[in-house]
Amino acid sequence: MRPAVTHRPDARGRFGAFGGRFVPETVMAALDELEAAVEEAFADPTFAAEMEALHRDYVGRQTPLYLAERLTEDVGGAQIWLKREDLAHTGAHKINNAVGQALLARRLGKRRIVAETGAGQHGVATATVCARFGLEAVVYMGEEDMRRQRPNVVRMGLLGATLMPVTAGAGTLKDAMNEAIRDWIASVETTHYLIGSAAGPHPYPYLVRELQAVIGHEARAQMLERTGRLPDAVVACVGGGSNAIGLFHPFRDDDVRLVGVEAGGDGAALHAASIGGGRVSVLHGSRSYVLADEHGQVEETHSISAGLDYPGVGPEHAHLHETGRAEYVPESDDDALRAFHRLCLLEGIIPALESSHAIARAERVARELGPDGVVLVGLSGRGDKDVGSVIEREGHPLRAVEPNPEPEREVVQ
Ligand SMILES: *Cc1c(COP(=O)(O)O)cnc(C)c1O
Repeated sequence: MRPAVTHRPDARGRFGAFGGRFVPETVMAALDELEAAVEEAFADPTFAAEMEALHRDYVGRQTPLYLAERLTEDVGGAQIWLKREDLAHTGAHKINNAVGQALLARRLGKRRIVAETGAGQHGVATATVCARFGLEAVVYMGEEDMRRQRPNVVRMGLLGATLMPVTAGAGTLKDAMNEAIRDWIASVETTHYLIGSAAGPHPYPYLVRELQAVIGHEARAQMLERTGRLPDAVVACVGGGSNAIGLFHPFRDDDVRLVGVEAGGDGAALHAASIGGGRVSVLHGSRSYVLADEHGQVEETHSISAGLDYPGVGPEHAHLHETGRAEYVPESDDDALRAFHRLCLLEGIIPALESSHAIARAERVARELGPDGVVLVGLSGRGDKDVGSVIEREGHPLRAVEPNPEPEREVVQ
């Protein structure tokens, strides 16, 4: 029999068998302090009012719910609705979490912020809120990701963050996270660790979910208002799992399918599907599914999207998987790219490659459900940051504008 679903972490910070705190003693006190500040803030109407004002005036919430009419027609199945987190300030859902944690850091009296970043979206969101609140931002980023996500590296610089390049491992998100945690352990008295996803030790998975749940709360109300019903399925991409859990959570008690889409990479051994291809282990302070060998050695991942290139997944997703409340499926690099182009050409929206994985799966689900169905997709971010990766893989898209060669002239002596 499957275990029952729980939506509150227990006294040890676990969702069922997953989560908890696997950290050095020095960090334990800081996590206790953060947990107390979270409880206090969530019960404080002043915090709620500050969040609401920032959401409205700074982040640009609420974000629209958009019926993708031409995509729907082209797929020929259920209606496909997009929750437009790509239109939030800085171009992705990451800002929802960063704003909330910056307010918490201020409450804790911590003026130095460390963060890890993969695609650079969380680094940009962190640099943004640090500028806004006058905090010092130190962002760890793998060198391979710095190469893949050049525009975000420049943005972080403009916003005044200190960027720390990480050469260890494959130079991607896992390595950046290791370094950020190392920094935090050494500086915990003065520093808040602004983790970018619903992962890490308790209370982070719970905290980040609550800060991202604004996505699902808005989408659920908008859906009811626009269509008079709830969707049949809610689909979101899963890296660490923050945009997905934020979208899923408000639908937890509804008769709605929750579909998390992991990065399937090239479809062979190299992928980043932690639930689909991983095993239960401990990574970055909590127990969850991890892409690791039988000795617990973390494997190198691959995805075309830097934001999904993470060998772990937030513990609440592991729990939703084990209880059967949510399903987790992979989409490959190629299928995500196809969905990316279709959204560009059919809707005039350039989606993030991460979000393109969710679009690819939403098309399949829409076909399964047929024309009476309704699918809600989390469009977690915009694709401006990804155009370099797409060109690298497919060549330049602007073949039609190559200039005509100069007409040859006869040389008159
Ligand atoms: C970071 C990122 C993701 C993956 O992170 P989650 O924590 O799984 O949401 C997905 N989409 C975009 C646009 C991102 O920037």
